[in-house]
Amino acid sequence: MTLEVSHLVGGYSQIPVLKDISFDVKDGELVGLIGLNGAGKSTTINHIIGLLTPQKGTIKINGLTITEDNQEFKQQIAYIPEMPILYQELTLREHIELTIMAYGLDHEKAWKRATELLKIFRLENKLDWFPANFSKGMKQKVMIACAFVTEAPLMIIDEPFLGLDPLAVHDLLSLIEERKKAGASVLMSTHALDTAEKYCDRFVLLHDGQVKIEGSLAELRQALPGVGETLDDI
Ligand code: ATP
Repeated sequence: MTLEVSHLVGGYSQIPVLKDISFDVKDGELVGLIGLNGAGKSTTINHIIGLLTPQKGTIKINGLTITEDNQEFKQQIAYIPEMPILYQELTLREHIELTIMAYGLDHEKAWKRATELLKIFRLENKLDWFPANFSKGMKQKVMIACAFVTEAPLMIIDEPFLGLDPLAVHDLLSLIEERKKAGASVLMSTHALDTAEKYCDRFVLLHDGQVKIEGSLAELRQALPGVGETLDDI
């Protein structure tokens, strides 16, 4: 699954946040989207998942342009938001059921996968819990489990490490590796450069709504010496 973002101009209610964003994520690649607070990472992601409509430019998934009229692409994308979004009135079991329905998954196969994922995140005995019963990190794990149940070919992950315990970070990265091996493409925004450096194939550095530079973290550091530590030289 290939993601191509071309000359994307966008933002909120005509307020231009993204000025001209172009980058791609190829089959089996994990690309890190990095940049200072307010650089435009979440806004870029909100356009890719179809929450915002581009003012200019295109977003293509396997060559097909995402438009408001073409919502089929949504089943191709698994999205893990920065802040967990769960339905207060639905149990963990019902969140899994909802995911299965929304993505049109094979029920038995998906539940087998869900059971494995819930075991990994120690949630297997909490199927009847409501979101109010979960801690923030546990809610994040529910979102992660739902996203990986889909086995979608494109994963969009917005700053996943904040609030996750170290074991969960390790487990999440192993799951991403597994999806990559299966050919999925992953775009992950993060501030955790040390962790990301070990796993990302490439980085796209955003600054003030534009792509400042792309490449390995070593290449970025060479061009902009502060990148590896604090991003303070951009
Ligand atoms: P962070 O690292 O803090 O998560 P980010 O790179 O994800 O930052 P964005 O959330 O994309 O940054 O924000 C980019 C710009 O868009 C900022 O100037 C921000 O103020 C603005 N912005 C973000 N959300 C909204 C919104 N809902 N309405 C209007 N402007 C917004």
